[in-house]
Amino acid sequence: MSRSSLAIELSKLRVFKNPSTKLEQYATPSEVAATILWDSFMKGLIKDKTILDLGCGTGVLGIGALLLGARKVVFVDKDPEAIKLLRKNLEMIEADNKTFEIMLVDVEKQRIPKADLVLMNPPFGTKKKHIDLLFLEKALESSNELYSIHKSSTNDYLREWFLRKKLVIVEKIDFNIALKPTMSRHKKKSHVVNITCWHVRSAKNQKDL
Ligand code: SAH
Repeated sequence: MSRSSLAIELSKLRVFKNPSTKLEQYATPSEVAATILWDSFMKGLIKDKTILDLGCGTGVLGIGALLLGARKVVFVDKDPEAIKLLRKNLEMIEADNKTFEIMLVDVEKQRIPKADLVLMNPPFGTKKKHIDLLFLEKALESSNELYSIHKSSTNDYLREWFLRKKLVIVEKIDFNIALKPTMSRHKKKSHVVNITCWHVRSAKNQKDL
């Protein structure tokens, strides 16, 4: 599969029908997801690996990983509506049910299994303060390596946070995305949001390479 055919496949997936503002739901645009997935695939972090998609929503990141040959993807989200759409998306790509696991749980309350890599677009922490950091903490309990999408306005803070946690910043990819007015409070046609995907790795893992 090429990068562009991956982007096309991801653009066919279902996204949130009525995104919840409280849960900060917005689907990662397929182009953004394809860029992140391709970066990790080319670094050898996807093929035959176990991947965790935390706050998976309708599953674009984890599904992309399955399309790129992940051994197994664990999808985690607390919203049953999102999980229903995720299941339909998995059916659409004809995913073999041995290659995925779905956990309908609250990331704040649940122990999360170990994985080779975490790919996530967690809530930004605009509604619930610091939930972005909580997702990062949880991801780091599960894996030494992660890609995580955040609002670019938090970049300085996150850079410090990663350094404090002794993480190596492997890559930082910036995107400008146009958010459609899917949420009723958005009156404008669409608005541009700057987001950043951080690829970080624990220093311990770095030494092993
Ligand atoms: N990762 C998806 C969705 C991003 S939106 C994508 O890239 O398209 C953030 C997701 O986090 C939503 O699906 C929301 O339901 C989920 N979420 C928010 N708080 C959560 C929590 N405490 N536990 C589990 N999932 C949560």
